[in-house]
Amino acid sequence: MRFARYQYGNELPRDGWVFKDQIGLLEGKPYEEFRRMEIERSLDSVRLLPPILPGKIVGVGRNYADHVKEMNNPIPEIPLLFLKSPSTLIGPGDLIMIPPQSAQVEQEAELAVVIGKKARWIEAGDAYQYVLGYTIANDVTARDIQRKDGQWTRAKGFDSFCPLGPWIETDFDPADAMITCHVNNEMRQMVSTREMLFTVPQLIAFISSVMTLFPSDVILTGTPAGVGPIYPGDTISIEIEGIGELRNPVGSR
Ligand code: ZN
Repeated sequence: MRFARYQYGNELPRDGWVFKDQIGLLEGKPYEEFRRMEIERSLDSVRLLPPILPGKIVGVGRNYADHVKEMNNPIPEIPLLFLKSPSTLIGPGDLIMIPPQSAQVEQEAELAVVIGKKARWIEAGDAYQYVLGYTIANDVTARDIQRKDGQWTRAKGFDSFCPLGPWIETDFDPADAMITCHVNNEMRQMVSTREMLFTVPQLIAFISSVMTLFPSDVILTGTPAGVGPIYPGDTISIEIEGIGELRNPVGSR
């Protein structure tokens, strides 16, 4: 099943469920009690919003060996965590804004996990019970600032630096799905999620041993090799097999 958030004209944002190229209203929240109302509109007549409003976005750095190598970093022995502010979120089709403080903003195509149940000290073997579903993220990063600061909050924290969507797919196996990323017509990234150094269940176990994960929280599972600069006028397209495509144009402030 696919959950989305959407807006029709000037109406208030709504929770919805997607069936093929149609969207219907969802009464309640996807991680609580909900009821699927009748299909009401075609997908192309509405604006899709970020499919969830997370309390927090937990990022995982260096989770694919080929990306660790391209950045000349050592292979991590435990997951490397960081936080992205919810104010970074934008939806499908929204502009990624290049800030004036950076001369090197890069795309990072990632599988995103959406938490469905409160989770603390979870064993990897039980982790899937706490997942609502999966979506696509672009962990946009100002690489020059990341190098300069050491801490990653500013480099990954600019407004618009977390495109998310187009929807949450509940029927998805994160063990072996292809992620591809195009910048305009150029293929930049292509890898299977089986290349992750730490799997989704291992990440949930590790993160929940540090902080409570709440329903709606999002985990970005790391990017494979092939990150590179993006500029105003570019269009970034990320596809994950079994979920769909997240597309965002690039502008500047
Ligand atoms: Zn990332």
